[in-house]
Amino acid sequence: MSLSPVSNAPKSASYDVVIVGGAMYGSSVAWFLADNPDFDGSVLVVERDLTYEFTSTAHTNSCMRQQFSNEINVRVSQFAAEYVKNFRAFMGDDPRVPELALHSYGYMYLADTDAFANVLRENQKIQQACGAGTKFMTVEEIGRDYPFYNLDDIIGGNHNLIDEGYFDGNTLFDWWKRSARETGVEYITNEVVAMTLNSAGTRVESVTLKSGEVINCATVVNASGPRAVLTSRMAGIEIPVEPRKRYTFIFAAEKPLDRDLPLTIDPSGVHMRTDGTYYLAGCPPDDDPAVDYDDFDQDFSIWENKAWPAIATRIPQFEAIKLINSWAGHYAYNTFDQNAILGPHTEVGNFIFVNGFSGHGFQQSPAMGRGTAELITYGEYRTLDLSPFNYARIIENRPFVEKAVI
Ligand SMILES: Cc1cc2nc3c(=O)[nH]c(=O)nc-3n(C[C@H](O)[C@H](O)[C@H](O)COP(=O)(O)OP(=O)(O)OC[C@H]3O[C@@H](n4cnc5c(N)ncnc54)[C@H](O)[C@@H]3O)c2cc1C
Repeated sequence: MSLSPVSNAPKSASYDVVIVGGAMYGSSVAWFLADNPDFDGSVLVVERDLTYEFTSTAHTNSCMRQQFSNEINVRVSQFAAEYVKNFRAFMGDDPRVPELALHSYGYMYLADTDAFANVLRENQKIQQACGAGTKFMTVEEIGRDYPFYNLDDIIGGNHNLIDEGYFDGNTLFDWWKRSARETGVEYITNEVVAMTLNSAGTRVESVTLKSGEVINCATVVNASGPRAVLTSRMAGIEIPVEPRKRYTFIFAAEKPLDRDLPLTIDPSGVHMRTDGTYYLAGCPPDDDPAVDYDDFDQDFSIWENKAWPAIATRIPQFEAIKLINSWAGHYAYNTFDQNAILGPHTEVGNFIFVNGFSGHGFQQSPAMGRGTAELITYGEYRTLDLSPFNYARIIENRPFVEKAVI
């Protein structure tokens, strides 16, 4: 089916659901709504920049893992693996839909202290109880399977070779957009600049577009990524989400490894993994403030002084490496507990969050999109109970602590 070009003007003055932001999360919620036979409402997705150039989605490392410390985060990622592995079936067996890549070379969480090794052991039990393949490996076992690591300072590590590694989330995103549009979801290129609430302040009645149109809505979904706080403020709501820079480096090795490099979480805070014939590394800056929404400047001193030394120390064979590409992207960083904020606001009941995913939002998009569509359709979660991510925890000061945050 050929789709008409995306317009900047909505076809209607009223929609059941208006989604603010049309990248990974806006498109996930839109697709799961459109795919649900019990949902027969109208959906408008408003996206301010259809090139997606400055989104988190365009800067992701596209990895998934089962190595979390909370059961619900494990289960959310397990649905991602199921979804990716059965993508065409989830897309109604559409013959145009490709199979998606999922390279399960695993994550390798390395511990250099007894305290962290114990955290890894506890996490492994939680993951195993959920059916994940995580194993705690001794230094000898790690050295046997991955002889290229320098393990002098390492006590042990957690590793899982099942449904953990890289997945092709960008193709998934493209198909969500396309399929949602083909099923009747309307995307426009425009920006939501204001919202009007009812007199009691309990419902958003309309959103105002940059071009001036006022659109009535029954439900509004905040899928604005690092800009989530700006969208929330339009409804008088504060959320603890800010843009934080994360750096990614692609490098070639003069002597490539003879096997895949698992996504290795080094105790230094640097992570690295196989990336086709190259390697990918990433890390936060030591000083990690909120940044300007438009600041994507690269800082090569982070490569020189932090990433490269950590890489060459952990894998001596990587002493001779060449930087091929790099970028800085923004996490929608939840400063409260680095976990998703999901579901309705406690007072403005038709304002729905899909925000604050920090560094694990790509893999969470199938489960969180499905759950949000259930919430909008049925008023409750029907598959996974995603209520631990509720906004209420923020105003009640109950952090949802996830020990495995990257
Ligand atoms: C460097 C980096 C590495 C990452 N690696 C991983 C990983 O390996 N695994 C993983 O699971 N996750 C990872 N993530 C996180 C993941 O990429 C994000 O959680 C996810 O892409 C968030 O998608 P989003 O749709 O919420 O936000 P975004 O992709 O930022 O999209 C938000 C959209 O909202 C639009 N918008 C904002 N305000 C308005 C408005 N007022 N009106 C209209 N449109 C608006 C924006 O233009 C944008 O298109 C990484 C992120 C980064 C930055």
